[in-house]
Amino acid sequence: METEQVKCLIIGSGPAGYTAAIYAGRANLSPVLYAGLQPGGQLTTTTDVENFPGYPAGIGGPELMEDLRKQAERFGADIRYGVATAADLSTSPYKITIDDGKIIEALAVIIATGATAKYLGLDDEKKYAGMGVSACATCDGFFYRKKVVAVVGGGDTACEEASYLSGLASKVYMIVRKPFLRASKVMQQRVFNNPKIEVLFEHNAVGLYGENGVEGVHLVKRKGEADEQRYDLPIDGFFLAIGHKPNSDIFKPWLDTDEVGYLLTEPGTPRTRVPGVFAAGDVADPHYRQAITAAASGCMAAIEAERYLLLNS
Ligand SMILES: Cc1cc2nc3c(=O)[nH]c(=O)nc-3n(C[C@H](O)[C@H](O)[C@H](O)COP(=O)(O)OP(=O)(O)OC[C@H]3O[C@@H](n4cnc5c(N)ncnc54)[C@H](O)[C@@H]3O)c2cc1C
Repeated sequence: METEQVKCLIIGSGPAGYTAAIYAGRANLSPVLYAGLQPGGQLTTTTDVENFPGYPAGIGGPELMEDLRKQAERFGADIRYGVATAADLSTSPYKITIDDGKIIEALAVIIATGATAKYLGLDDEKKYAGMGVSACATCDGFFYRKKVVAVVGGGDTACEEASYLSGLASKVYMIVRKPFLRASKVMQQRVFNNPKIEVLFEHNAVGLYGENGVEGVHLVKRKGEADEQRYDLPIDGFFLAIGHKPNSDIFKPWLDTDEVGYLLTEPGTPRTRVPGVFAAGDVADPHYRQAITAAASGCMAAIEAERYLLLNS
């Protein structure tokens, strides 16, 4: 099996991975970056990014990521297509297997594999992606000022997203499968006290409709099998808030995670419990999940890697 020794391996090509590559490249670490199945990461699936500093007129997600890639390459980052399929973090150098069979032996590893939003699995979610369907209220809420939106989910995140959207939209429906909210009491109270939010308990979204974007949602209200009501609810935006899946599976035998699978790091740092292995971006961030926070933690991870390598090689 082919093996290759590298100083600094970066796994993932979202804002965290590319930013880590820019910093690691400029620090002469000759970073090798594997881009994974989604080169450029989540932002390649969106049109307008209006909250990344430095772009007063906003920028398209794919263009922003292309800029970051070019910036990383300018400083010598070796960006490759390939997916990390296994990890052995028992001893340094750490061994990462790539899907072409190659094993990369790295002195420092930066994990920037992101987290994937969960969807209901409706065909219409794909059909209306970027045209009224979103999994991030902070990212897209601004586009729904004075409009009507629905949030799917009944946990803390859904309540937070609904509360946030109520500051922008004229009306927020929460579509909740169960006859109760799973969220903490405090969050429930916040939702119930908000006159703009209406909770639709025992409801399932089964489809979306609209000519050039979402104009409404097909709903089924179910109280037991016998009592089923189908109706359409006009909305402009459909927000999923049913959780994310951090892309951390191959690292779980070696690193600590929370119950959802987010990698745990030393508070305020990207350091994992394995020296020389760092986690950056959404894979280690259940709270903010923004491009700028991912980029910032990629920067921190590269600085940490540089300091670690200085002391340990
Ligand atoms: C539709 C949409 C719109 C958004 N809009 C905004 C916005 O306007 N503003 C904002 O700040 N944020 C926005 N976000 C959130 C933002 O995209 C994320 O917070 C950010 O991309 C996280 O960056 P990341 O580098 O941690 O991971 P990601 O961008 O998720 O990238 C993860 C990378 O890891 C790679 N990868 C995963 N597993 C492996 C593996 N095993 N081997 C190799 N590579 C792997 C993937 O291919 C990918 O390149 C949006 C998200 C979505 C989905």
